[in-house]
Amino acid sequence: MPMSLTLIHTERFAEHQTPPGHPERPERAEVMDVVAARWKSRGVEVIPPSAATREQLLRVHDGDYLRRISETTGRAVKLDPDTYTSPESHEIALLAAGAAVQAVDHALSGPQHSALALVRPPGHHAERDRAMGFCLFNGVAVAAAHARANGAAKVAIVDYDVHHGNGTQHIFEDDPHVLYVSTHQFPYYPGTGAAGEVGRGAGAGFTVNLPLEVGAVDEDYQTAFAAVILPVLAQFKPDLVIVSAGFDAHERDPLAGMRLSTAAFAAMTAELRGVAERQCQGRMAVVTEGGYDLQALAASLDAVAETLNGLPPPARWPRSGVASDRGRTAVEAATRALSPYWRF
Ligand SMILES: [Zn+2]
Repeated sequence: MPMSLTLIHTERFAEHQTPPGHPERPERAEVMDVVAARWKSRGVEVIPPSAATREQLLRVHDGDYLRRISETTGRAVKLDPDTYTSPESHEIALLAAGAAVQAVDHALSGPQHSALALVRPPGHHAERDRAMGFCLFNGVAVAAAHARANGAAKVAIVDYDVHHGNGTQHIFEDDPHVLYVSTHQFPYYPGTGAAGEVGRGAGAGFTVNLPLEVGAVDEDYQTAFAAVILPVLAQFKPDLVIVSAGFDAHERDPLAGMRLSTAAFAAMTAELRGVAERQCQGRMAVVTEGGYDLQALAASLDAVAETLNGLPPPARWPRSGVASDRGRTAVEAATRALSPYWRF
């Protein structure tokens, strides 16, 4: 069936300012403006975000942490070695988390509803009580907890940002109702995301890490999806799929060392749309994370929006032609750690 796509975006995301030369620069929001305007001209609904509420944030963040971030209002503060605020950042971070919540609300409002939230700052490094790695509030975690509180029994989060989403993993690591799946460069910032990190307590098996050595190509990600991610999602049977969509594994990205093409981001998104169509009537919310090359970001966002809009496209994986066993190595480590919990 055709899917209806909604974008959630505001030009105000550019108001979160970082120091000169910082990769999480406001120009990323301007790229998102252009993408949103292009899709609007094609008839796709673009809606402005509203701020996440205290109740929504408290599901995954400490009250004391919310107070500390609110106290940065009107000030430029260095929160950690990579993470800064400008006077508007608190308000903008509330809008970014709110956009992720709205994406989930839209996805849950009817079958074949998908939403793409074009936000900054990103969120997946933000811990319950700590800003980290350019992230203030963990928007995807807030959105997943919101979905759980509003009738979704099981939520799958798939994070293809090049960095491991330490915050998202930690927030849900003992929760069997929220599956967290991540592909990431490893070893690399933030240091977490080894294959042996599988969750704890009742959540054991519901954290799925695919650590990939630097230099991974399209075929490595295809291997990880085919051998681990798709089988686990088929067995988990989510009621909603949320994607932490970072584009910093792109071959053009200046931060990391992966070699994904733009077409691979379309293929990963198409695979996940296929999961949503088979498991949960197409309910899918995609929220941006990193992605620091502006040209790669624009092209990848367009490719993802194209994949979410209209009739389901087949997952067409591109061929890099580069011989690499990074995918197979990650799959072997992940299946070894996860075979007590899932059939491969
Ligand atoms: Zn990243």
